Amino acid sequence: LAVPDFAGLVGDVHRMYREILPVRSGAVADYIPQLARVNPEQFAISLCTVDGQRTSVGDDDVPFCVQSVSKTVSYCLALEEHGVDLTHGHVGREPSGQSFNELTLNRQGRPHNPMINAGAIMCCSLIRPELAPADRFDHVARTWQRLAGGRRTGFNNAVYLSERQTADRNFALGYSMRENRAFPNGTNLQETLEFYFQCCSVELDARMLSVVAGTLAAGGVCPLTGDRVFSEETVQHCLSLMATCGMYDFSGEFAFTVGLPAKSGVSGAMMIVIPQLMGICVWSPRLDELGNSVRGIEFCRKLVAEYQVHPHAAM
Ligand code: GLN
Repeated sequence: LAVPDFAGLVGDVHRMYREILPVRSGAVADYIPQLARVNPEQFAISLCTVDGQRTSVGDDDVPFCVQSVSKTVSYCLALEEHGVDLTHGHVGREPSGQSFNELTLNRQGRPHNPMINAGAIMCCSLIRPELAPADRFDHVARTWQRLAGGRRTGFNNAVYLSERQTADRNFALGYSMRENRAFPNGTNLQETLEFYFQCCSVELDARMLSVVAGTLAAGGVCPLTGDRVFSEETVQHCLSLMATCGMYDFSGEFAFTVGLPAKSGVSGAMMIVIPQLMGICVWSPRLDELGNSVRGIEFCRKLVAEYQVHPHAAM
């Protein structure tokens, strides 16, 4: 068993949930009404080990949109389709040191990495570009479903429409990349941005996202179904970039204090991977100034304080 004393872990997770529940600092994202209206009190922690043991507490069946957590899956899909060299001819792999939607490219005129908006838009342009938009989205949705152990993910159309309506910054990023000839030949910018907003609007609950994280922890094989969704190499690259770039401009501080590959989204979702051991989802909508879930970060602090999960811990 990956976690021999699973009952002990379950008890600890439930206790941490109760300890973190009173934390009410931060504020929900309000750049679109659909996120501003989400009940900020909601909180869920779910985990899934690499051998399929699961536990879950709180609002673990309430759907939320993945938002920036989608950047992990879009990057993996680009890698699976094109390999490392071609993919990284279009997107860098260096932390940007700036916020997720900063209007900036690297010295080659490419997005800094796949975990910020510009890089995720670039990855979307690389996913099945020859297919019709509906089939490209189907490909992404089917991949999420396989990662989540076979349960169909949802789609929040209101979030999608809102994202598309208030997209000036993402369009600016898109035009800036096009000006630098960063996209593959023949890329349709409007279509690519719409595809990116659709990827952000995929909906699932904490239980499902913990299985996705568990699949990454297991090197790309879903712990519930045994389905190999991504190659080990793809997952290794994704985890490397999550570890260095996954938490916006808190990524360096997060790598120092927690050290685990993780990815956050403005919906308050957070996916944490303990390689070869388990995947964890924490979801709680109130965000700190940098856009990370306050309770999500708090959970990670507790996790490393109580368990030796920091990859560079000597013990
Ligand atoms: N979908 C939003 C955007 O592209 C937010 C992404 C995120 O979670 N940071 O701006």
